[in-house]
Amino acid sequence: GQRPQGAAQKPLELPTVRSIITVASGKGGVGKSTTSVNLALSLAAKGLKVGLLDADIYGPSLPRMMGLRDAKPTHSDKEGKMVPPSAFGIRIMSIGFLVDEEQPVIWRGPMAMGALEQLLRDSDWGELDVLVVDMPPGTGDIQLSMAQRVPVTGAVIVSTPQDIALLDARKGLNMFRKVNVPVMGLIENMSYYKCPECGHIDHVFDHGGARKAADELGVPFLGEIPLDLKIRLGADEGKPIIHTDPDGEHSRAYTAIADKI
Ligand code: ADP
Repeated sequence: GQRPQGAAQKPLELPTVRSIITVASGKGGVGKSTTSVNLALSLAAKGLKVGLLDADIYGPSLPRMMGLRDAKPTHSDKEGKMVPPSAFGIRIMSIGFLVDEEQPVIWRGPMAMGALEQLLRDSDWGELDVLVVDMPPGTGDIQLSMAQRVPVTGAVIVSTPQDIALLDARKGLNMFRKVNVPVMGLIENMSYYKCPECGHIDHVFDHGGARKAADELGVPFLGEIPLDLKIRLGADEGKPIIHTDPDGEHSRAYTAIADKI
């Protein structure tokens, strides 16, 4: 078949970025972006300098989740680079800042990859301890080119208890292995629902699927995030729960994971 465009080029260099962590999932809607945002804020709360890149070119949601719907990058003097908008002390870059939210992105693969490379390369990230990258769902060209073109430190995989059965975790894992990206572990999102009134716990989407898959695949299990209204509202309103309720039970679930990565 045809080689994806850019595959033979030399790797992108990001000298001011110390590590890159990608957040991946088998399919959309499992909470990958929500997890990326809250992990980024948890890492920042530990005193690290953190950036966030929205690599979900076809469905960027980070501007909304970070309360930056109307933000635009500004231009820096440094080699004509873009200065990413920032929120909660984190620099964020997303195709969502550059295209109209109402307009669907209909680029073919190579163009989407080109756009992603530009977001990475032409942004003035400043000194970063870690760049958290919210990947598109699945194992397509973008994932492959990301792994080949930038030095990814590791990948974390987000899944619900249920979709892990459907998600071809093995396929995803093999892809990361092939391109030498260490899998840092699996996160189970929407793992349980705890009634805020009585404390009763329900496993709405089943439970334990991600832990089981992690065991079977021989990768670390990083933790469980509950299904929770506050998490959803925070994401939708651009006020992540780690910011509004840093010491709450749900926030602690994220910080415990951030401690392991
Ligand atoms: P993805 O990036 O995998 O497509 P999103 O992060 O956009 O998924 O999440 C999909 C929807 O689920 C959003 O409305 C988000 O607010 C909600 N959501 C994600 N994680 C949780 C959670 N733990 N509890 C409640 N709602 C959640």
